[in-house]
Amino acid sequence: MSFEAYPIGVGPQFEGERVRKKEMYIELGGPKIEKKFELCEVKPAKAIKDGMVKIIGPDISELKEGGSYPIGAYLEISGSQLEQDLEAVIERRFHDFSNFIQGFMHLNQRYTNWFRLSKKSYEKGLNSFNILGEILIKLFKAEYNIIEKAQITFITDKKQVDAKFKYAMEVYDKRDERIRGMKDEDVEEFYACTLCASFAPKHACAIAPNRMSLCGAINWFDARAAAKVDPKGPIFRIEKGECLNEKAGEYTGINEMIKNASLGEIDKIYMYSGLEYPHTSCGCFEAIAFYIPEVEGYGVVDRDFKGIAVNGLPFSTMANSTGGGNQVEGFNGISIEYMRSPRFFQYDDGWNRFVWLPSSVKERINEFIPKDLLDKIATEAEVTEINELKDFLQKKEHPVMKRWEQEEEEADEEEGIEEYPQAQAIGSPTQIPYTMPTQAYTPQGIPPGSQSFILPGIVIPAPSTGSGPGFKIIFKNVKIHAESVTVKKIKPKKKK
Ligand code: SF4
Repeated sequence: MSFEAYPIGVGPQFEGERVRKKEMYIELGGPKIEKKFELCEVKPAKAIKDGMVKIIGPDISELKEGGSYPIGAYLEISGSQLEQDLEAVIERRFHDFSNFIQGFMHLNQRYTNWFRLSKKSYEKGLNSFNILGEILIKLFKAEYNIIEKAQITFITDKKQVDAKFKYAMEVYDKRDERIRGMKDEDVEEFYACTLCASFAPKHACAIAPNRMSLCGAINWFDARAAAKVDPKGPIFRIEKGECLNEKAGEYTGINEMIKNASLGEIDKIYMYSGLEYPHTSCGCFEAIAFYIPEVEGYGVVDRDFKGIAVNGLPFSTMANSTGGGNQVEGFNGISIEYMRSPRFFQYDDGWNRFVWLPSSVKERINEFIPKDLLDKIATEAEVTEINELKDFLQKKEHPVMKRWEQEEEEADEEEGIEEYPQAQAIGSPTQIPYTMPTQAYTPQGIPPGSQSFILPGIVIPAPSTGSGPGFKIIFKNVKIHAESVTVKKIKPKKKK
């Protein structure tokens, strides 16, 4: 397969290339455009004109530089061995194949798709959807030799995009519906996807019936179909292995998979927790579930939410903390479909922990939220910041409040203790194994004989021996999040 006839380079070497705003000629779809989509459907052979690229609306050269425009990218394929189950997976390849094109960037999927064309590539001659379409058709057919015929339509006319958008949403919904009656225990195997590894090298999605991939584009059926046609491809079967913790969704097969994918950096995933060993996130998530320590609950913000979430942060800021393939407690990339799963965050107490959603998301999934909680979960229409949220939750008697009561009781009990025989130093040997050096020394001004627990930049001295009363520190309503804690033995300075 040769791409020499084209004015720009094509190949995996261009994947991962970003087109920043100042380098951009135009963008198609993305957050500024309300309705956009990409869709793939299997059709009868007679309905397809192989190689045809159709443009409905202005072509690239007719679009004004610097603008953002609606886009519908519609791929139709046929082949005697093509199953409908493969549509979602082939459609997802818009992502990497578009990114193979020099100076052409693709982000997200389905109805959140976002293309950018660079000024440089436009100047080189990438000025028509005909070129893009021809390249994409070649790439799709080369990757899937079961595609016998393919045609592609690019729609930039707003009215036409809006009309087809409704149809695309119905297709996505039908695909997602198929998995809703299934449970993890109904299947023998799970699947993994590493398609996003070029952007987030440590990331791989674990795909189970009750946990849709975080891009929301690949469910268990789709993954199974992809692994069947290309078992050594980026979507592959994984053995479930032993179920170590059903509520958490911890399986030896998934742990092994993530250990390999992350080159040993991550060795455990709880599919159904956001706070303990959460699933990693690349950058393609449809939404973010974010922990709100002040109320011990979660909020969700999706890509289409333009405002500031209840924690004072916009989606884009939280996306920076969430993505990259790391295991980030309290910031989890999720799909909207996962919110319809009966195992949604079940390890953390599921919907009982959710306190805030954008109204558009709440509307989309309201039949999957337990009825008794529907009115207790705030949206941006009722609540815009944390203090309002607390009042709202109290007024509505949200179940998350039980956690506040428990904490208060515990703190009160602690306060009642007036006498204590021996101060308990933070990080003392009963909490963190720590051996004190035997020599007397004065590290960073700490009196000799003191024991210290060191956080980055913080030294808390605490008496460890003797009969003095010592002291106790009680933190109330405090949550400490640390990416890592290092306990280091401080070597005494050598006497000169
Ligand atoms: S988000 Fe996950 S399932 Fe979706 S393409 Fe990326 S790796 Fe695959």
